[in-house]
Amino acid sequence: MTVGRGLGVFCGLLLSFGLMASAFADDAAPVGRILLRAGHVLDVKTGTEAANQTIIVSGDKIVAIAATDATPKQAGDSEIDLKSMTLLPGLIDVHTHLTGDTNFDYYHELSTSVAKSALIGARNAKVTLEAGFTTVRNVGADGYADVDLRDAINEGLVVGPHMQVSGPPLGITGGHCDENLLPIAYHLQGGGVADGIEAVQHKVRETIKYGADVIKICATGGVLSKGDDPQASQYTLEELKAIVADAHRLGRKTAAHAHGAQGILWATLAGIDSIEHGSYINDEAITAMKQHGTYLVPTAYLIDWMQQSGHLPEFYQQKMHDVSVVEKTNIKHAIAAGVKVALGTDAAVYPHGLNAHELDVYVNQFGMKPLAALQTATLNAADLMGWTDKVGSLEAGKWADIIAVVGDPLKDVTLLQNVAFVMKAGTVYKNSAAP
Ligand SMILES: [Zn+2]
Repeated sequence: MTVGRGLGVFCGLLLSFGLMASAFADDAAPVGRILLRAGHVLDVKTGTEAANQTIIVSGDKIVAIAATDATPKQAGDSEIDLKSMTLLPGLIDVHTHLTGDTNFDYYHELSTSVAKSALIGARNAKVTLEAGFTTVRNVGADGYADVDLRDAINEGLVVGPHMQVSGPPLGITGGHCDENLLPIAYHLQGGGVADGIEAVQHKVRETIKYGADVIKICATGGVLSKGDDPQASQYTLEELKAIVADAHRLGRKTAAHAHGAQGILWATLAGIDSIEHGSYINDEAITAMKQHGTYLVPTAYLIDWMQQSGHLPEFYQQKMHDVSVVEKTNIKHAIAAGVKVALGTDAAVYPHGLNAHELDVYVNQFGMKPLAALQTATLNAADLMGWTDKVGSLEAGKWADIIAVVGDPLKDVTLLQNVAFVMKAGTVYKNSAAP
């Protein structure tokens, strides 16, 4: 499955190489503008699709969007012909695990070193960027491999999206974010395990010390963990309040893995910024989330993928079944009730690069309008990350994170599963239309 896709991406990159080289040919020369000649430009705030526009890029930022007739090429400018395409902001996925592989063999999980997971992350970061996701929030990685991946991308060592990272997620002893595969003789523990007020405060501070942009916690049990119950809350309300208070005081947002209704409610009451998964969300939790402005991050396509292609160990299988039969109904109800949504996928549970399939679920299973679905992956995700000044829409002053598709994504969101052009921070990483 990934082989054919990989070849397509590779060919696209080969085609775009000449173009990238010409745009950045000489470091000593003054940096010229890049004029993206667009068929249409989609404004994700309004749904307007203006024809014959040019996006003017200088350095890593957008400087203006104007009618192509009014933006003649000047000396030093380079042009990219995207007249057959619709341009829109690069997509954002607020729930990835780039340093993780799709592999449910528990020996694989136990035997993957932190160094290996960073290398896996370098591969997945590139795949994710080329799928049109120019920004991700990575919520959970062993040994701070995500911190190093983020820094390596920012330093230009490897190719990937803009990242916010959490490091190891906080969780209780024996909970979803602990490591429960081995008996006591091995003394194996998840890197984010902390119990009690003082311990969770220390763990938040330690996680920030070692490079976390965002604090991820496990508020309830999970599916892909041994011996715990997705419906059971794990942290107490008092522990959750202590975590969120410290994280916010230190300038970090918070994200809670939560399936069960009590954990969703308690995390919301504690002031968490987003609920991840939300499978057993009920009316009480919906009301609280609306009152607090808490985002829901559904991670819904993974259920479809799992039903078609997942081969889970027996102790995960029943939990996956139980969650799958209720999750979509409950999430659909929460969306209809007006809970804010940001797009997240849990990529790693299924192969990286399929992230845009999540949009299809929002539109064709949850009944969202295509523009509303695109907003979950742009404006809403940017708002959740606190990056509204940098990403989420095509506007002067924001990063030049721009993707393009052939056709009208407001008529068919599945077009976003085949992104033809990807620019991140003014650099072209994919252009299938290049001659
Ligand atoms: Zn996850």
